[in-house]
Amino acid sequence: MKMDRVWLPDWIYVNGRFESGRALVCDDDGKILEIANRDDGIRLKNRALLPGLVNAHSHAFQRVIRGRTEHRSHHTTDSFWTWREQMYAAANRLSPEEIYTASRLAFLEMALTGITAVGEFHYIHHAPDGSTYSDPNLLAREVIRAAHDVGIRIALLRVAYARAGYETEPNPQQVRFIEQSPDTYLKHLEQLLDAPELKSGMAWAGVAPHSVRAVPLDYLKTIVTFANERGLPVHMHVAEQPAEVSACIEEYGRSPVALLDTEGLLSKHFTAVHAIHVTPKAIASMARAGAIVCACPTTERNLGDGVVPVDAYFDAGARVSLGTDSQIQIDLLEDARELEYHLRLQKTARNVLAPADDDSSSALARRLFECATINGAESIGFNGGKLEPGAPADFFTVDLNDLSIAGCAVEDLLANIVFSLSRTAVRDVVVAGKQIVGHGLHR
Ligand SMILES: [Zn+2]
Repeated sequence: MKMDRVWLPDWIYVNGRFESGRALVCDDDGKILEIANRDDGIRLKNRALLPGLVNAHSHAFQRVIRGRTEHRSHHTTDSFWTWREQMYAAANRLSPEEIYTASRLAFLEMALTGITAVGEFHYIHHAPDGSTYSDPNLLAREVIRAAHDVGIRIALLRVAYARAGYETEPNPQQVRFIEQSPDTYLKHLEQLLDAPELKSGMAWAGVAPHSVRAVPLDYLKTIVTFANERGLPVHMHVAEQPAEVSACIEEYGRSPVALLDTEGLLSKHFTAVHAIHVTPKAIASMARAGAIVCACPTTERNLGDGVVPVDAYFDAGARVSLGTDSQIQIDLLEDARELEYHLRLQKTARNVLAPADDDSSSALARRLFECATINGAESIGFNGGKLEPGAPADFFTVDLNDLSIAGCAVEDLLANIVFSLSRTAVRDVVVAGKQIVGHGLHR
């Protein structure tokens, strides 16, 4: 056993609690061999070790508009839709190299905050004039290269985008996204699936119909069937804005979730991103199908989207994952605490998401931490987000002496990490057994 594959922190988070005197041992394939009682290895003094965070919804390039949309535009009222125009302006001027650079910047920040895998909802496919590059996956591969160079895993969720909306004129700002037919989309997706960088286990692909607004039903069914036959994850923006819901009802006589449910498109491989403006019936159908919600509360509050009714999803038995989405701030633990905080403000109550059948002091924190880890891993289709033999050796450590959590008792450690940790407390990040961040610095 190579000693550089054994890590011995003060505390390690296993099976929902912190244990001491335990070492994480990694095999040659970058998987966890065992979590053993031993006292040799790389000593991580004053550190707690936790499974790597999984960011299930990202648009990496949007990092470039950070801080550039926080002012009144020429519209009377700013909204998601006016923000979208500003975002499109950026999307339409980035070169392939700039998309690589912006993505690398976003992924670097993710790595430094303990994120070890990302689901990248990638929709810029073409040149700014709408023409297809000689490699139709050039930009997707630039984003994968950025993740590779930073050292995190990536699920490239390749987006299908067919139209501006129901009975809506084509929008010239969307020409870089459009693939008119499911045949074209699937041809390009199959080329991506054959790309050499998708053979390593560090990168894989999924199917991402952008929304019911952007993808008509026949197209949607064709590509979701393709994904289900191959066991690929399916991600879709669902019910982010009330206008999307009303347009769907106008076109199909059903809300987005009702449409997906009655057409048999919901499954355990399906992740509904946002899923904010939904009915109790829609929540029940999501849970029944085993579909996963991806909440992006930092972005949702920035864009004025609304609050994900996570309490209702949990009561129905649905899983919830998390995404940094627009990258206005990259801190998945902040997203985890906001799930709870938004509901506290809405309901003027506390501990809204604490499970009813568990009154232990860490039960709420554990539930929120699962959203940031194992639920995200299930959403993007890999066996991570947990520390156990056979799982990927993807983890991060936090400095127990960081002022944001210093002095806490071990039984409160997870609640301190989930509710109070500063991002700067993240010290080491390891992906597939390789250290990419040490002492808070990227290699
Ligand atoms: Zn999104």
